[in-house]
Amino acid sequence: MRILIAEDDQVLADALLRSLRNSGAAVDHVADGAQADAALMINHEFDLLILDLGLPRMHGLEVVRRLRARGSLLPVLVLTASDSVDERVKGLDHGADDYMAKPFSLHELEARVRALTRRGMGGGGNSIRHGPLVYDQAGRVATIDGRMVELSARELGLLEVLLQRAGRLVSKDQLVERLCEWGEEVSLNAIEVYIHRLRKKIEKGPIRIATVRGLGYCLEKIPG
Ligand code: CA
Repeated sequence: MRILIAEDDQVLADALLRSLRNSGAAVDHVADGAQADAALMINHEFDLLILDLGLPRMHGLEVVRRLRARGSLLPVLVLTASDSVDERVKGLDHGADDYMAKPFSLHELEARVRALTRRGMGGGGNSIRHGPLVYDQAGRVATIDGRMVELSARELGLLEVLLQRAGRLVSKDQLVERLCEWGEEVSLNAIEVYIHRLRKKIEKGPIRIATVRGLGYCLEKIPG
């Protein structure tokens, strides 16, 4: 999962980065509205935007307004400085999906993030299922036929992306985009290595990660 945080309070931003990275997301951070707007225009692989409203250079409301005007359905969680009803209403009216008033508990924020990204994936509940393979987003645990599969953080991230698009092609470039933060170097070769490791762990029953030569990968279920 990939998240963009737009927050000019560095202390809060650091706390959010730590907490969300701990829960397994790739998280990028910008400290002003204009940068947020630019990042959202260039990168379409984010799963969620966490947006402070009181941002320098461009107000948070304008960032959401422009995002929606471009037709994006990206889930947006707004952070408001005060518990002002007016701000919240404006945020939602401009196209935000949810809001939190500062100060808030990181625990609650993580739960809202899970709820919003689930909605974005069109799913219900905390888990994504593909045949006997179940991935529990909240617990960050994958099971096959109810048995836990031990996966590294990177392998879990990879599996999550493949599951979100099960049955569809995911290119190596998309995997890099979805898994890596800015400035993080992960080569296409490294992706091949992760896929190789993931295959060894999950291709026991009818689950297959098919290679579409020159294009990417596709998570499949062999009928039987
Ligand atoms: Ca602010």
